[in-house]
Amino acid sequence: MPKPEPKPKTTTKMKIIYEPSGPAREYSPLAANLFRGCGCRCEYCYAPSVLRMSRQAFGRPDARSDVLKHLAADAKKLAAAGDPSARPVLLCFTCDPYQPLEFAPGVGGLTRRAIEILENRQIPVRILTKRPMSALMRDGLMLQYADVDFGVTLSFTDDADRQAAEPGAESVSDRAQALQFAHQWKLSTWLSLEPVIAPAQAIGVIQWTADWVDVFKVGKLNHDKARESEIDWREFLFQALRLLTDLGAKYYIKDDLWSHADREIRDTWPKRTDQHPTDEHPTPNAQVNGDGEKPQSAEQEA
Ligand code: SF4
Repeated sequence: MPKPEPKPKTTTKMKIIYEPSGPAREYSPLAANLFRGCGCRCEYCYAPSVLRMSRQAFGRPDARSDVLKHLAADAKKLAAAGDPSARPVLLCFTCDPYQPLEFAPGVGGLTRRAIEILENRQIPVRILTKRPMSALMRDGLMLQYADVDFGVTLSFTDDADRQAAEPGAESVSDRAQALQFAHQWKLSTWLSLEPVIAPAQAIGVIQWTADWVDVFKVGKLNHDKARESEIDWREFLFQALRLLTDLGAKYYIKDDLWSHADREIRDTWPKRTDQHPTDEHPTPNAQVNGDGEKPQSAEQEA
């Protein structure tokens, strides 16, 4: 069991870096959102409502105003407040860090430069993307040499279903192959199974990618009562835990899925077997007060 974090001693006011709360906190102790909007256009995304944007406007992303200038200032403050290597910063929750705009002339390169800024302050980076092949093919060398946890969201095996739900994201085969490349390149890899819309496919993703994934983070579907009620979450959890155990895979079950664990499951399996490498650093002494543009749930994760 991980040790509980001591209470932070000071507050560091930041403009871009913030401390996620609620379920998002299960992904990373710190996060930053570089873009306003996202080109992945996931049908289940509710970041637009959190950011009070129309879906149309959210689908026409842009860089956040002066984002790199503010990020550099935040990173400097974070470093000055204590051990900067203590907590990774996740890129991103309310947008995909490798959405097409990242590679567009003019605006692009935000994520690349953000990683450089954080790395220069010895702040580890935790990536979460649905476009990992683009990330590796365009920025692979930098990712290989930076202190990066490379996270991929994938919960489908049928690319027709993926196309319907995540039309601007990469195909399921590209995402799986990117994980294979990342593993071969010795990157620390993790896979986010969330949202789970087709449980049998999510189980298939575990089977398919286990050789290349260091840690699985397994969640469920939220904010869609109709579809949620059609899924037997206890059964999905049981199957996932049995397979993860059979494969010898490290995992973390998110709180909202773990709430469906009955006594049989709790007596058989632990909630987590992972320790994300960057979680092992000593706890810092500064609390981060971000700018409020943060999700209420990790389901706005990329
Ligand atoms: S769920 Fe994530 S990747 Fe998909 S549109 Fe929303 S922010 Fe982008």
